[in-house]
Amino acid sequence: MPISTSFKSRLFPVLENICDHFGTPFHIYDEQGIRETCADLKRAFAGIDEFRQYYAVKALPNPSILKIMQDEGFGFDCSSTTELMLSRQLGAKGADIMFTSNNTSQEEFLLAEQEGGCILNLDDISLVDKVPSMPELICFRYNPGTRRTGNDIIGNPTEAKYGVSHDQIIDAYRQAMARGATRFGLHTMLASNELNYSYMVQTAEMLLELVEDISAELGITFEFINIGGGLGIPYRPDQDKFDLDGMGREITTVFQDFKNKNGYMPALCMESGRFMTGPHGVLVVRAINRKDIYHTYIGVDTCMSALMRPALYGAYHHIDVLGKDESCEMETVDVVGSLCENNDKFAIQRKLPAIQDGDILIIHDTGAHGHAMGFNYNGKLRPKELMLTVKGTAELIRREERPEDYFATLDFTTDSLSL
Ligand SMILES: *Cc1c(COP(=O)(O)O)cnc(C)c1O
Repeated sequence: MPISTSFKSRLFPVLENICDHFGTPFHIYDEQGIRETCADLKRAFAGIDEFRQYYAVKALPNPSILKIMQDEGFGFDCSSTTELMLSRQLGAKGADIMFTSNNTSQEEFLLAEQEGGCILNLDDISLVDKVPSMPELICFRYNPGTRRTGNDIIGNPTEAKYGVSHDQIIDAYRQAMARGATRFGLHTMLASNELNYSYMVQTAEMLLELVEDISAELGITFEFINIGGGLGIPYRPDQDKFDLDGMGREITTVFQDFKNKNGYMPALCMESGRFMTGPHGVLVVRAINRKDIYHTYIGVDTCMSALMRPALYGAYHHIDVLGKDESCEMETVDVVGSLCENNDKFAIQRKLPAIQDGDILIIHDTGAHGHAMGFNYNGKLRPKELMLTVKGTAELIRREERPEDYFATLDFTTDSLSL
């Protein structure tokens, strides 16, 4: 199932009203669904001494969403200075933030250590000497190379630019210790949008084995392991939900075994993005044009600047037409945006109830890597974001981009260098 039937039952009866008030297009996020998923995640790992989720800010960098995460006791996974700033504006600091950057600049390191700092997750051994000051607590991102295969989306770890190689990992900690680090974490991220939870269990096993090896070599213990994000969601109606409880059960056993053997249990950290918010958002658009040529095209009032995934990855996003279902006359159409790129299509040869101009279309599962990925090519502007709150209101949580936003970077003091 794409979005939940409970989200549908909350949204669809009031959607016409919301469209009339706010105007289309917009993404709308379901606070109740997000909070339920947060609760599910915490319940799945209740048997682990300490579990910490860091919401991957890049998935949906909106303060109103981040506040929900904070309220649920979660931290933030950041990988850029603006994501750090966004998290800090909400009061997050120190262990509330995991900074998982790669190809990191000095400016990023300097900003990272300000305002109460954050947990630094270093992507390479060479960075040990480049960190302006080595914090007490340090984490490395591990790349297992041929020891593990990534999933289809993330690919073969030996081809991935991320992380410290197996041969360098012990030296990385040794060098960090020489620079003054005394507390340690270990991180990896090997899957993306993976529906089979065994990947995550294997990742936890792999990291805990590595913790034993590094500890034996260097005489240190680990405060946490971080198994990354990558939990999948069923974008297609025929896909099963991710078995969160199954994953929780098996990872808890892996942690208990580690504790029995080693006398302690590191905290389990995770930095899930998609799973937390993906199914709790939809892009709502209106059909404005219909064109019958070799295919039938339904033109909607937005484009791939609002949702890149179909164009970028050929990703499937389920579509509903408000007030119409399979009992209506069906037809096969392409649902398209207005960008001058032929891949600007939300659906290709999709069987949908016959659509008239003015109909409202609901494009599912845009609560993660949706609005956030948008861009301004072709001068296209990104839509607004709304939240359906547990109070029973629809609230604007980001306005739409306006032409003045597009022109803002052209407002500068002239500068020229004679050569
Ligand atoms: C993108 C990313 C995540 C989140 O991935 P999801 O698929 O949204 O769970 C977590 N950690 C890192 C390092 C990432 O780059």
